[in-house]
Amino acid sequence: MAVSPVALLDAREDRAARQAAILSRFGMSVLSITIVMPGPVKDGQLSRSLMELALRDVDRLIKVRNWRVFSRDVLWRESGPEAIYSLDVDPWVLKSSVIDLEERHAIGRLWDLDVIAPGGGGVSRRSVGKPPRTCLLCDRQAHECGRSRRHPLPELLKAIQEIVHGATCTLVSDCAYEALVAELMLTPKPGLVDRRNSGAHRDMDLNTFLTSARVLSQYFTRFVRVGYDAPNVAAGEFLALARPIGVLCEQEMFEATQGVNTHKGAIFALGLLCSASGRLVGAGIELTRDRICSEVADICAGLVERELDDTTSARTAGERAFRSYGVGGARGAAASGYWTVRSVALPVYDRLLKAGIGQEMALLESLLQLLAVNADTNLISRGGLAGLEYVREYARRLLLGGGVLATDVLEKMAAFDDELIARNLSPGGSADLLIVTAFLAKFSNRA
Ligand SMILES: [Zn+2]
Repeated sequence: MAVSPVALLDAREDRAARQAAILSRFGMSVLSITIVMPGPVKDGQLSRSLMELALRDVDRLIKVRNWRVFSRDVLWRESGPEAIYSLDVDPWVLKSSVIDLEERHAIGRLWDLDVIAPGGGGVSRRSVGKPPRTCLLCDRQAHECGRSRRHPLPELLKAIQEIVHGATCTLVSDCAYEALVAELMLTPKPGLVDRRNSGAHRDMDLNTFLTSARVLSQYFTRFVRVGYDAPNVAAGEFLALARPIGVLCEQEMFEATQGVNTHKGAIFALGLLCSASGRLVGAGIELTRDRICSEVADICAGLVERELDDTTSARTAGERAFRSYGVGGARGAAASGYWTVRSVALPVYDRLLKAGIGQEMALLESLLQLLAVNADTNLISRGGLAGLEYVREYARRLLLGGGVLATDVLEKMAAFDDELIARNLSPGGSADLLIVTAFLAKFSNRA
């Protein structure tokens, strides 16, 4: 909703009064956060996400520096979101540190991080040796262009949107890489390559996977970008745009690993998740787990029928498994909007993380949950339905025995690993779903 100029002046006075009250109450440095949002609409999705990102970074800074917090208030007002902190830290140290945040973060230019010294005076950028801020659109000083209203509002808002979208795209590809590495490093994983051993594989080890992960990391931004640039292409036609990137990524992976398939399934899943996220950002829609997954489901609607049901010869483990047993594999999981991940793995992951058990253990339990239910085409390919059932039963037994809450869970997982190596079984499909779990876990759970 638009805010009148008078209401904005009132809001500014209110803010000054609140700052003065906190200043006199605690006698400490005050940090005030507001959002750079020109025009009459100050509160909206864009300003709120900007404030949430600012709070996350400022809170992290305070924690790292071990500053004492006397008060922290966040207000979501029609005149725009604002936050006020009272902190036990030298005001010039505080100002330099928050300028550093502004400059390091891609969207820092859209934060106003003002510092007031305990005596009451504002600490300027100049007083800590920094030049005044430049305009979003030209090289002049920001306040010059602001005062003279040099640039039309739509142009300014467009520039802001581009900065926010760019930062969100970077965030998505960072999440994809972190998910990939979190799954790889998780140890012990039964039958899979980890820090303990190479699982049931003789042609690859941890280093092969790390080399491969570096290749994939170069492609995540491209997947996000292809979605971001095509939010209006119909979901059913979008796959044709993203696929060539996946093909290139696979080729480069095979070159880097000398022909070993380390991450084909992960490229498919993360490529879809990244490009689906990009489409949502491009359409101005907030990223949540459910929205990302329904976008993937829309993109992959009918994929199983189109590609697995045809009469040409089956090439991958997933294609053979579908031919023999009607199991949909990676394509089926994507077309379902990663239903197993959302209904089985993520609720468990959330619960354990909330209980303070840590990301690694929460992922380990999620893996057990996935192994217990997933129709893993890699297991079927190596051990038939008997192999699949053996792994499912084993995982269920471990879960019944307390899962990761059992005191000897690491020994039990190691024994599980040894059994699968002896049987030459590797649950690669479930490993891919664990990557999906780790990726989605980074996004909001809101509907
Ligand atoms: Zn300007």
